[in-house]
Amino acid sequence: VWDKCLSFIKDNIAEDAYNTWFLPIRPGKLINNVLTIQVPSKFFYEWLEEHYIKILKSALQKELGADAKLVYSILMDQKSEGREPFTVRIPSSNKEKLKPQEIEAPLNLQAGKMMNPFIIPGLQKLKIDSQLNHNYTFNNFIEGESNRLARAAGRAIAKRPGGTSFNPLFIYGGVGLGKTHLVHAIGLEVKELHPEKTVLYVSTEKFTQQFIEAVKNNNQNDFIHFYQMIDVLIMDDIQFLSGKTKTQEVFFHIFNHLHQRGNQIILTSDKSPAEIQDMEDRLISRFKWGLSADLQNPDYNTRLSILKQKLENDGIEFPDEVMDYIAQNIDTNVRELEGSLNSIIAQATLNKREITLDLTARTLSKLVQTARKEISIDYIQKTVCEYFKVKIEDIQSKTRKRDVVQARQLAMFFAKQYTKASLASIGTQIGKRDHATVLHACKTVKNLQETDKAFRGYIEDISRKIAD
Ligand code: ADP
Ligand code: MG
Repeated sequence: VWDKCLSFIKDNIAEDAYNTWFLPIRPGKLINNVLTIQVPSKFFYEWLEEHYIKILKSALQKELGADAKLVYSILMDQKSEGREPFTVRIPSSNKEKLKPQEIEAPLNLQAGKMMNPFIIPGLQKLKIDSQLNHNYTFNNFIEGESNRLARAAGRAIAKRPGGTSFNPLFIYGGVGLGKTHLVHAIGLEVKELHPEKTVLYVSTEKFTQQFIEAVKNNNQNDFIHFYQMIDVLIMDDIQFLSGKTKTQEVFFHIFNHLHQRGNQIILTSDKSPAEIQDMEDRLISRFKWGLSADLQNPDYNTRLSILKQKLENDGIEFPDEVMDYIAQNIDTNVRELEGSLNSIIAQATLNKREITLDLTARTLSKLVQTARKEISIDYIQKTVCEYFKVKIEDIQSKTRKRDVVQARQLAMFFAKQYTKASLASIGTQIGKRDHATVLHACKTVKNLQETDKAFRGYIEDISRKIAD
């Protein structure tokens, strides 16, 4: 390709100039429509940009199509031992946008060493921090039945971002099943295979905050332009766009722009596209354009492999029967699996004890109990009644006897504190009262808590019983 470009350029400029400025250029790799060329110095690159950008552009576009891109990699001059960050001026080849842009390129340069390719004329290209977590790789993402499709799709995308029919890739599944891990792994592998691509990982919450901030500062256009430059955009937990009309709208535009240009979009969600609530139909339909792949609860073998890997990383060994016991019993998700493992290790270390089946069983049963124990309003009423030795029927009745009123009010107060039930629903469940009564009860209890020492004692006692 470069040879063809050269012959085109040779035909169009003076021979002297050609010999001076084009012969020393060495072609580098060509990936898709991005050609890397090596130039001898920074000065060389600046000269090319200033004088020959048009002819370079035409030559490239002729060979590689309209969206051809060029990346320079600069072989540093021996004498310029510039180690400190420096600023590169990137002139735009586009006449309308002829505003030179100052861009910080904080690269650690060493004499004679090749610099990262980082400049693409005609399109101002920033080096951005991808926000990828280097601990989340494919290497330590255990493959299993539960994640096979999503993982394979991710791998395919990493090889050819934007070049597969998996655009967007929509990964969904419950908490702790590996969505975040997997998308980081994809991002990291893209960076490895295609260092010239701009990859960005962003949580949907952060995206939303940035957008709100941009609106406040009246620079929404900068926000949009920034996102439209990304080659591989990874947005985690897209379900958080639910109900956020304005953010959905701006994301819709960014999505379209990226998709039209064949840039890769990767999304995760705790629900399938069809199940997401309060999301514009046009977005939902776009989520389904590419591939939706779900992550399921890991099966026994996958759980066992994950445990083994984690222990190996930590340099710890567990007896086989213990591993088997954990893998058998913790079947919810990977995060809990890791959590249980950590608890057992902590138990053993704290008590300086060997990791035995017995210790494991006891640690896990405690964990499972606390996780499963959901505090219900019934349970709260029962606890409060036992404490004050009144009958549940009494709290439920209309009676206004002093000790019953007090128990009733406390039950309401604790229901508000320990459950997610609304005031109205608490009222219905505790003696068929309305929400104003519950609100009043909560206020009364808080007042007494501050002013009455004995009462404060009751509250503490009951709290302890409820949480026990
Ligand atoms: P999600 O984003 O779906 O809630 P995460 O990606 O945060 O889940 O995963 C939770 C934890 O489980 C992380 O520590 C992750 O490294 C680990 N994990 C999930 N799936 C795997 C897997 N297949 N192999 C190894 N570790 C995994
Ligand atoms: Mg996550």
